[in-house]
Amino acid sequence: MGNTDATRVYDRVLLKISGEALMGDQGYGLHPPTVSRIANEVKSVHDLGVEICMVIGGGNIFRGLQGSAQGMERTTADYMGMLATVMNALAMQSALEALDIHTRVISAITMNEVAEPYIRRRAVRHLEKGRVCIFAAGTGNPYFTTDTAATLRANEMACQAIFKGTKVDGVYDSDPVENPDAARYDRVTYDEVLQKHLNVMDASAIALARDNRLPIIVFSLDEPGGFRGILAGEGTFTIVSDDPG
Ligand code: UDP
Repeated sequence: MGNTDATRVYDRVLLKISGEALMGDQGYGLHPPTVSRIANEVKSVHDLGVEICMVIGGGNIFRGLQGSAQGMERTTADYMGMLATVMNALAMQSALEALDIHTRVISAITMNEVAEPYIRRRAVRHLEKGRVCIFAAGTGNPYFTTDTAATLRANEMACQAIFKGTKVDGVYDSDPVENPDAARYDRVTYDEVLQKHLNVMDASAIALARDNRLPIIVFSLDEPGGFRGILAGEGTFTIVSDDPG
C-alpha cells in the first residue's frame, strides 16, 4: 500500500475494542450508529494507508464468567462468549463495508458460511491488499479473553502496536469514574501493570505483550478523530511498554 502520509509512524496496527464499546447507551447488544461511528474512526486511519487488524470483544452480548457464575458449565459459556464476538465482528464488517472499506472476518472457530478460517499467511495477504482483518471468536479456546486474542494476533501479524480503545483516555492508578483524584500514567511498564493490578488488559495478555515487546497504547474511543490523532502521537493516552520513560 502507498504511504499517503509522510508523518506516518505506524504501518500495521491492531485496534482492540470491547464489545461494550458497540452498545452505545443501551446497556446491552449492538447500537448500529455507535458501530458506524467507530467504523468511521477506523476509516480515517485506513485512509492514511495504515494496515489495520481489529479484535472486538463480546461483553455486550455474553461473557463466559457471567454464565458460569449463574451455574452454566464454564467452557460452554466461554464458547458462547466467543460466538458473541463473531456477531460483533459481522456488525463491524457491515459498517466498514458501508464506507467502501474491504474487510475480512476471520474466525478462530471454523464457520465457513459466515467467516474465513484463520490462516496466518492468508490474513497477512489481506492486510497487504488493504483489507481490514477483523479477528473473531477470540483465540478459539475457553479460559481466554479477547485481550489475549488481540495480543496473540498482533504478534502473529507483526503489528507494531495494539491500540486499545476504551471509555477513558489512558491507564489510571484507580478508577477515574469513581475517583476524581485518579492520576493518569503517560507511560507505564508491563511489570508495573501486573504488580499494581492496573486495569489495562488481563494478566495473560500483558505477559504475552511483554514477552514480545509489543507496545499497548490505551486511548479514548469517545473522542472524535481520536484514533487517527493518537496514531500521530497527538492527544492523551498511555503507552504500556518496557520503557519506564
Ligand atoms: N472468550 C473465550 N476465549 C477467547 C476469547 C473470548 O473463551 O479466546 C469468551 C469469554 O467467555 C469472554 C467472552 O468470550 O468472556 C467475551 O470476550 P471478552 O470478555 O474478552 O469481551 P470484552 O470484555 O472485550 O467485550
